[in-house]
Amino acid sequence: MTLEYITMRILESKSTKNKGKVKIFKLKEDNFATIEIECPNCNKKENRKEKWVEPFVSGEKMKRAFFVKCNFCDFIAKIIKLKKQAKKEMKKK
Ligand SMILES: [Zn+2]
Repeated sequence: MTLEYITMRILESKSTKNKGKVKIFKLKEDNFATIEIECPNCNKKENRKEKWVEPFVSGEKMKRAFFVKCNFCDFIAKIIKLKKQAKKEMKKK
């Protein structure tokens, strides 16, 4: 198993001011990413697999963010790439 990408982010709901979190990881041999979300808006937890679309492709006009949606309410988290984070977390493994 090779970890290709992992990130953990704290989410905050603008309307309720509650905090939640999201964890995303993807193994090199899988074509999906596993997403664990704890929604700050409705407080529900979900663990799901989603088709992996390269979120952070290098290049000048690349997409620097991707979106994770809560399936229970209309909360959408915008995940922006943090430089070096993926590599750092990989070493901890
Ligand atoms: Zn929600």
